[in-house]
Amino acid sequence: MKRALFPGTFDPITLGHTEIIERGLDLFDEIIVGVGVNSAKQTMFSLEQRILWIQEYFLKYHHKVKVMPFDGLTVDFAKKHEIKFLLRGLRSAPDFEYEKHIFLLNKHLDDKIETVFLVSDTQYIGISSTLVREIIKYQGKLEGLVPQNIINSINKGINPNS
Ligand code: ADP
Repeated sequence: MKRALFPGTFDPITLGHTEIIERGLDLFDEIIVGVGVNSAKQTMFSLEQRILWIQEYFLKYHHKVKVMPFDGLTVDFAKKHEIKFLLRGLRSAPDFEYEKHIFLLNKHLDDKIETVFLVSDTQYIGISSTLVREIIKYQGKLEGLVPQNIINSINKGINPNS
């Protein structure tokens, strides 16, 4: 059973993230989306909301995509859940530089866990959760950036955390 962990904050999940997960499904039997609790980082949306949106989006893959909250070191979480692979998305050279350090750190902590990087499709390269949060704040157009279930929730007036 090839199981991968896709860790992130997903505040909120974007079409850039979902594309990486969907492509990851061709490589792995199961993908655990680890939603960071990260107490140091103030998020726009609650942990429950971020998890719910991902679960809703991947409903048809619920047997292959599991969503779990996680705190602490990524490698510890992976070990605890018998996960051998970490899945990460790359958009650009700065992403690569940042991810390289995380990769080396994780390797230092546990060299049995391998990281697999997938390069984002061109249409998703410009998307980030930070950008999406700005658009939400100023009520801009979200189509093409986040899944439709998130747009529906926001249009219904889901309140951000702040
Ligand atoms: P964090 O910034 O807390 O690590 P994110 O939720 O922003 O978490 O990102 C999680 C993963 O998704 C990272 O590997 C990141 O590089 C990747 N990612 C973010 N946005 C995109 C995108 N548009 N296309 C591909 N990968 C992405």
